[in-house]
Amino acid sequence: MSPAKSWAIRSAAAFTVLAVSAGCGTGVDRDGKSGDEGTVSAPGASPTGSPEPASPKGPPGALPRPGEVKRIPRSDDGLPPVISSIPTKRKVVFLTIDDGWEQDPGFVAQIRDQRIPIAAFVMRDAVEARGAVDPTAQGGRFLGAGKWGYVRDLRDAGATIENHTLTHPNLPTLGYEQQKAEICGSSKLIRKHLGTQPTLFRPPFGSLNSLTRKAAKACGIDALLLWTATVQPGGKIAYQVPDKKLRPGDVLLLHFRPNLSRDFRILVNKIKRRGFELGNLDAYLKAATGNPSGNS
Ligand SMILES: [Zn+2]
Repeated sequence: MSPAKSWAIRSAAAFTVLAVSAGCGTGVDRDGKSGDEGTVSAPGASPTGSPEPASPKGPPGALPRPGEVKRIPRSDDGLPPVISSIPTKRKVVFLTIDDGWEQDPGFVAQIRDQRIPIAAFVMRDAVEARGAVDPTAQGGRFLGAGKWGYVRDLRDAGATIENHTLTHPNLPTLGYEQQKAEICGSSKLIRKHLGTQPTLFRPPFGSLNSLTRKAAKACGIDALLLWTATVQPGGKIAYQVPDKKLRPGDVLLLHFRPNLSRDFRILVNKIKRRGFELGNLDAYLKAATGNPSGNS
């Protein structure tokens, strides 16, 4: 199959016909290549002449190009690094969603059908709906909270499921053993329900101390991930920088809360209008830290 043809088939699966024809007009002069650079998916043989586009394979979202991502140096103490953004100059940002209260099947369909890359940092008391109700609900009612099946559906739709403790404590108020119980307990639960081992940990409130990294390491965590901007109801981005601009490598934080699907649609459109792509966090972090895949 010619590169142009395989590009068109893959693009047709991900974008509208309009986007494909727009892409055809500008694709060749982007960097003088076919537009396939950086794509590692291997879609296999597509039936020639079939109107049905080949189903896209590989992880969702933009993948790092060779040499694109700067290495995050290993910490001298051998503990997992604390990362807030990805060191790249490419206009790519990363979507992360925390807690797990709202369990809207429409959101699963949204990320699956549009192949939107997300990393979900889930915490037990939200997923199982047994903790105090999250104040981010702002009086709204959560949809269907209480099921690990929802988290599995998210994973099957392409999301990465990561660790956000059992009970959402402010970790620096706890001793080492308690911090470890929160982090290891969450990883164990995710393993039990999903069969995968989280490699990333997000401390609740972004709050941590030296014991937190030590405990995370003991629980098999490769890196602690914070964020550079939060997304408010209505898809509004609250920046932590004064110029209120998205920057390459930004990590955005959302919450599973009422109207997530609608807010998410607004947000994704906004990001694309500003010329940014949505990146695959897992692939970018591996490029930045040099950790091999399948680490456990
Ligand atoms: Zn949280």
